[in-house]
Amino acid sequence: MSAVAPQEENISKARVLTDIESGRFESLTTEEILTFAVKNYHPRLALSCSFGAPEGMVILDMLHNIEPTSRVFVLDTGRLHQASYDLMDRIRERYGKRIEVIFPESGAVQEMVNAKGMNLFYESVANRKLCCRVRKVEPLNRYLADLDAWVSGLRRDQNVTRTDTGKVEIDHVHGDIVKFNPIADWTHEQVLQYVAANDIPTNRLHKRGYASVGCDPCSRAVEPGEDPRAGRWWWENPETKECGIHVEDESGGSGI
Ligand code: SF4
Repeated sequence: MSAVAPQEENISKARVLTDIESGRFESLTTEEILTFAVKNYHPRLALSCSFGAPEGMVILDMLHNIEPTSRVFVLDTGRLHQASYDLMDRIRERYGKRIEVIFPESGAVQEMVNAKGMNLFYESVANRKLCCRVRKVEPLNRYLADLDAWVSGLRRDQNVTRTDTGKVEIDHVHGDIVKFNPIADWTHEQVLQYVAANDIPTNRLHKRGYASVGCDPCSRAVEPGEDPRAGRWWWENPETKECGIHVEDESGGSGI
């Protein structure tokens, strides 16, 4: 049953753009932004959750409390950790929530690994981005084509590529739909405090030093005090450390 009455029609993009430019959204709390998102876009709104970072779990919890039928999806690259799959089942049980699992096109994966090998991502940045495009970016593009808005757990202090993240943005990469980043201004400590205070299940690999858990071959534990993003694609420079889901690059937005 819906907890927040939806609008008859989506708020206009022009109005959202005006509010972005005026800075109105930046003064709103996370709950206020999520309530706005649900009221205006549910059910054509979904949370992107990797089940590998506590940020996604915080938003999932908040969004579920606002709207129990809120949607959540995961991109199953085929290379995720078992711990991430286990967490999906724990979430399913705790919240009684259906998780929309999005897969890459099998033919594209087959063609890529037959041509370049199973572990092509270690060989070059170009190969790594190709793998991310086939396993993440293209499935995401396909999924978002049916939505009017999506929600992410990006935070500004996660990486140099994320310092300009707005709490609400127009996503030009995905057909000018609205993108909500409701915890953009949170610190890592705030995230951990919310998780602890609300006893939210998280990925068990965090206890083994993983700050964020991506695909198995592309994420590792970090040392205490080390940059949390150091555990992702550790063989690359920080400037290249995006999979193409959250950034637009010179190739025209696919991230590759
Ligand atoms: S994170 Fe690694 S395995 Fe996963 S899609 Fe990107 S390159 Fe491929």
